[in-house]
Amino acid sequence: MKAIVFQQHGAPDVLKYTDAPDPTIRPNDVLVRVKACALNHLDLWVRRGIPGVPIPLPHIPGSDVSGEIAQIGADVTTVRVGQKVVLAPLVSCGKCAACVAGLDNHCRQATNLGYMIDGGCAEFVRAPEVNCLPYPENLSFEEAASIPLVFQTAWHMLLARAELQPGEDVLILGAGSGVGSAAIQIAKFFGARVVATAGTDEKLQKAKHLGADHLINHKTQKIRDEVRRITSKRGVDVVFEHVGTATWDDSFASLAPGGRLVTCGATTGYDAKVDLRFLFSRQLSLLGSYMGTKSELHSVMRLVASGRFKPIVDRIFPLTACADAHGYLESGSQFGKVVLTV
Ligand SMILES: [Zn+2]
Repeated sequence: MKAIVFQQHGAPDVLKYTDAPDPTIRPNDVLVRVKACALNHLDLWVRRGIPGVPIPLPHIPGSDVSGEIAQIGADVTTVRVGQKVVLAPLVSCGKCAACVAGLDNHCRQATNLGYMIDGGCAEFVRAPEVNCLPYPENLSFEEAASIPLVFQTAWHMLLARAELQPGEDVLILGAGSGVGSAAIQIAKFFGARVVATAGTDEKLQKAKHLGADHLINHKTQKIRDEVRRITSKRGVDVVFEHVGTATWDDSFASLAPGGRLVTCGATTGYDAKVDLRFLFSRQLSLLGSYMGTKSELHSVMRLVASGRFKPIVDRIFPLTACADAHGYLESGSQFGKVVLTV
């Protein structure tokens, strides 16, 4: 098959469109003919190399896949050849205490398609049967591939971790990112008031169109001052963080008494300071979040199929231009998802 393969870590030019062996499936696996694969920041980290994470080389990246079932293993019973499918990105062991409790994002063996195992930037990808999600027929392949990772992550952060309540105020950083554009929709769906930040007025208008109630341009305005103004000095109940060092101080200072800061990433760096006086006296909570459960993803897909949640596709590249797509994602100029079509 043809695939995007890298032999070494580095800049986007390590990504080569070349021949790779067809994946072989085990009894509980499916082989998916990939139609679209959406990019995530994880793809950039995996390509650059992560200290202490020995990613097997050569490697095929890509976590968010839509396509058609090309082949099924001997024990597969719930999907058939030719069926359209979206894949859950997280591959877990399915057998440990966390997995049988439905907490597959706590599985110690869990990884993503395209992370420690080969992913979807290819004509074919192998995945466990249990990762097959019902295809939302109202979406194109490119739209469908834009859903799983970011919506699952945002859902788990806001609902499972921060326990968002109707009527609460949420500060969503980086509204132009895939995870930010998903978070706005989820927070509004659950009845929150949304304050969204972005670096351009054009992105802020798109955030408003998605339902954001208040907008902050973080290039021209100070986030904590605007939050104070919008909330009459109270602060927000929940801060949705994924930016890291660049926004951490403003995020922390924007919390109301009893507020929760939930984070799933650190695209600008992982160094952060916490003033313990504010942490205890305001009874704040700092929450980490990683991916989400398959059960949560099934809930997301039902709401996508009914049109309640919409994938935000910024730009589509052909698979052969994967390196250009990485460069574009790295530039940070997108609103929503960057998708490869196969
Ligand atoms: Zn497990």
